[in-house]
Amino acid sequence: MNIHEYQAKTVLREFGVPVPRGVPAFTVDEALNGAQELGGPVWVVKAQIHAGGRGKAGGVKVVKSIDDVKKESTRILGSTLVTHQTGPQGKKVNRLYIEEGSAIDREFYLSALIDRETSRVAFVVSTEGGMDIEEVAKSHPEKIITFSVDPATGIMPHHGRRVAQTLKLTGDLAKQMEALLPKLYAAFTSKDMAMLEINPLVVTKDGKLICLDAKVGFDGNALYRHPDIMALRDLTEEDEKEVEASKFDLNYIALDGSIGCMVNGAGLAMASMDIIKLYGMAPANFLDVGGSATKEKVTAAFKIITSDPSVKGILVNIFGGIMKCDVIAEGVVAAVKEVGLKVPLVVRLEGTNVELGKKIIAESKLNVTSADDLDDAAQKIVKAVKEAA
Ligand code: ADP
Ligand code: MG
Repeated sequence: MNIHEYQAKTVLREFGVPVPRGVPAFTVDEALNGAQELGGPVWVVKAQIHAGGRGKAGGVKVVKSIDDVKKESTRILGSTLVTHQTGPQGKKVNRLYIEEGSAIDREFYLSALIDRETSRVAFVVSTEGGMDIEEVAKSHPEKIITFSVDPATGIMPHHGRRVAQTLKLTGDLAKQMEALLPKLYAAFTSKDMAMLEINPLVVTKDGKLICLDAKVGFDGNALYRHPDIMALRDLTEEDEKEVEASKFDLNYIALDGSIGCMVNGAGLAMASMDIIKLYGMAPANFLDVGGSATKEKVTAAFKIITSDPSVKGILVNIFGGIMKCDVIAEGVVAAVKEVGLKVPLVVRLEGTNVELGKKIIAESKLNVTSADDLDDAAQKIVKAVKEAA
C-alpha cells in the first residue's frame, strides 16, 4: 500500500527524520491558510498523488508570494497530472501539500527496500539525486552504491560513514548523515515498509541535511498490525477493481492485457499468465481465488473481471485440490446470469469434483468452451479472442 508524500513525511517525522514543515490542503483556502501559517518567504506547492515525477510534469512549484500560492494551488488542484509513473491517463490531484521552501545546495538519492536475494533491507545511495535514478543506473551505474543490513545487528555506525563518504559529506554534514540513517532504518523496519525513497535528499545552503521528498510503500501483509498506517489509505488512488477485490479478500492485481484470468493458487495463476503470453496475448489481471473460496467470492471475482472494459476474453483455470470444481462452476454460472457474458470464456477444470463442475457448466447452457489442460486452454482463449476481434 502506498501513501502520499505529506503522510510519509509525518511518519518519518515521528522517527526524528528531518523534513521541511508543511501543511496538507484539500482546497485552495486551506492552501492559503497553510501558507500564512508557514510564513514564507518561499513556499512550495506540491500535488499529492501516488506517483513520482511530479516536478517535471508541473506538479511541484516553488513560489515567493501568497498570490502565487493561490495561483498555483488553483491551477494544480483538480487538474490531471501525467508523469512518467502515472501512465498516459494521468492522475487527478485531489490534495496539495504546501511546504516551506528550502535553499538547495546539493541533491542526493537515497532509498531503502527489501532485497529478496539477501533477505535483508538494502539501501541504495547516489550523488545523482533529483533525476531519474533509472537513467543513472543505466548510464552511470558506478554512481550508485548499494549495501544491505544484517538484521541481527541492525544498522551500524559504519553504514552511516559509508553513505557519508559516498555522498562526499564531511564534518557536521557527515555527522547528520550518520544520525539520519538509523532513523530511516527504524522507520522502515518498525512500520513494515516495503519501499522508502528519498529523492532528493538535500544539503541546504545553511548546511542542513533534509529529506525533501518521500515516497513510501508498505507491505500489505503486515498492515493488520499498523492501524495508524491503514488509516492513511487513499482509495481514490487505487485501482477500483483492486479495491473491490480487497473487500472480498481476493488476491487480485490489475494488469494491462486483454485476457481476464480466474485461477486458484498463485503458482498456477503465474503459469496461466505466462502461457497466455507464450501464445501471443497478455493477461488483464492476476487473480488467485484461493483454496477456500465460496460461491459468493467466485461470483465477485468473475464480476470484477467482466467489469474491466479491456477484457476481451476470460480464462478460468482451476486445479481443484482443496478448492472444489463445482464451487467454481456455480460461481461462474451465477455471475454470468447476473452480469451476462459478452466475451469468449474458456474453462479448464481438473481435480476435486471435476465431473460435477463440468455438469453444472454443461447444464447452464452457457456459451463456454471447455479445455483439457493448461496449454489447450491458453490456445483456445487466444484463438477465440482473435476470432472475435
Ligand atoms: P517529484 O519527485 O514527484 O518530482 P519532488 O518532491 O522530488 O517531486 O520535487 C521535485 C523537485 O522540486 C525536487 O527535486 C526539488 O528540486 C524541488 N523541491 C521539492 N520540494 C522542495 C522544497 N520544499 N523546497 C525547495 N525545493 C523543493
Ligand atoms: Mg522526488
